Amino acid sequence: MAKMSMPQPRVRFAPSPTGFLHVGGARTALFNWLYARNTGGIFILRIEDTDVARSSEEMVRAILDGLAWLGITHDEGPLFQSSFRGQHVAKARAMEKEGAAYRCFCTPERLEQRRRAAEARGDVWRYDRECAALPEPEFRRRLDAGEPSCLRFRVPEGRTVYDDLVHGPTSFNNADIEDLVLLRTDGSPTYNLSCVSDDIDMRITHVIRGDDHISNTPKQILLYRALGAEPPRFGHLPLILGPDKKRLSKRHGAVSVMEYSRAGYLPEALFNFLALLGWSPGNDREILTKAEMIEAFSFEGVGSRGAVFDTEKLTWMNGEYLKMKPATELAALVRPSFEEAGLWSAGLEAQRRDWFLKLLELLKDRCRLVTEFARDARPFLTESLDYEPVAAARHLGSPGAVGRLAALRDALARVEPFDEASCESALRELAARLGVKAGDLIHPARVALTGRMVSPGIFAVMAIMGREGTLARLNRAARFIEEGSGGTP
Ligand code: GLU
Repeated sequence: MAKMSMPQPRVRFAPSPTGFLHVGGARTALFNWLYARNTGGIFILRIEDTDVARSSEEMVRAILDGLAWLGITHDEGPLFQSSFRGQHVAKARAMEKEGAAYRCFCTPERLEQRRRAAEARGDVWRYDRECAALPEPEFRRRLDAGEPSCLRFRVPEGRTVYDDLVHGPTSFNNADIEDLVLLRTDGSPTYNLSCVSDDIDMRITHVIRGDDHISNTPKQILLYRALGAEPPRFGHLPLILGPDKKRLSKRHGAVSVMEYSRAGYLPEALFNFLALLGWSPGNDREILTKAEMIEAFSFEGVGSRGAVFDTEKLTWMNGEYLKMKPATELAALVRPSFEEAGLWSAGLEAQRRDWFLKLLELLKDRCRLVTEFARDARPFLTESLDYEPVAAARHLGSPGAVGRLAALRDALARVEPFDEASCESALRELAARLGVKAGDLIHPARVALTGRMVSPGIFAVMAIMGREGTLARLNRAARFIEEGSGGTP
């Protein structure tokens, strides 16, 4: 009922296009999106491109691509903050007119001097309001003389209190807040002014962003009030930390969303993982569909403590998502990495399509990254595989290996039909006949067929390789042993 009676929520994601979409930004976008979808609200994408020197179109593209890849769709925008400059300046001038803002003629040099002096006294420097109450004649004279000035907000006395959606009641002493600059000496609006101006004009009801913006919130609330507007609700999401509990940064590895795509992560897995960075849907649930996340999302489940970015967990989750994918979808996903590994051929999409889908089905339980399919598929697509040295030494170099592989080859040559069950009984019968353990045949066979010590079930491997492929690889391994060990089995 409460949901019905409240005005339609309007939230925004407001990245500055000065870098790629990183996981912190993506998580902020995602929480805004979940909230909007949960409440039937509107999700607005606003590009805060006012820092012309540091913003670029390429980064705007990168942010849009990252959001699209994750499936975070916006309902309005992208709106470009730079196009609203007129409104920002107009609001600043209105505040000046009302006396809520004043011109400050202090030069950077004078400010710097006074800052140093304050610090030398052991004080925290905050603008000392030298220009806050200039006598009218002096103010006029300096203005008429063309002295450069910026426009500062006059922070009122008292306290600024708000109820954070995540942190609960939060209170700031206004005396701790500097008279912030609204318009720089060159007339350009600052972040806090532009942000509040746009949030008012876009009728934003909930500002959901990272903890690093908490200190801006009281300033923005004061600006709202000075402009006669009702502040929105604010919710600050906990910082994302690396495993060392320090703020997540490049030092911890990939931070840009598209790097995860290149590394073999699925967008739905990263989405799910990011959603749980600071939010818990309850019941220890970890794998959730988007619909379930939307349904379950609420700020009650958002924690206020830093959330650790655990790559191991993300990789595990990715594996779970891969297992759920039908082979037909996997085929399209793995293609780029197969091409890169030189393993792609037109046949995989044409006459060998069914075989290829079976292979992907066989491999998918063991793969945690999209890119791992190419690695694991190699033994099936080429006969000239490399044997892992440790695997070869242990299982191909053991006494009698050549003889056992030859016997296995002969047994498999007669198996009919050449399927998983018949291969298995042929191998077990042979082991009994030779008086060896099945493992004494399975281990060398695994190395001969896949080059590795671990692989999917060996009989399934044989069945997919087919009789010809299996025998060719067994022969090749026998030759390898004979050449490598001087011909003595
Ligand atoms: N452009 C700001 C940022 O990227 C937006 C902050 C906000 O959401 O108000 O951090």
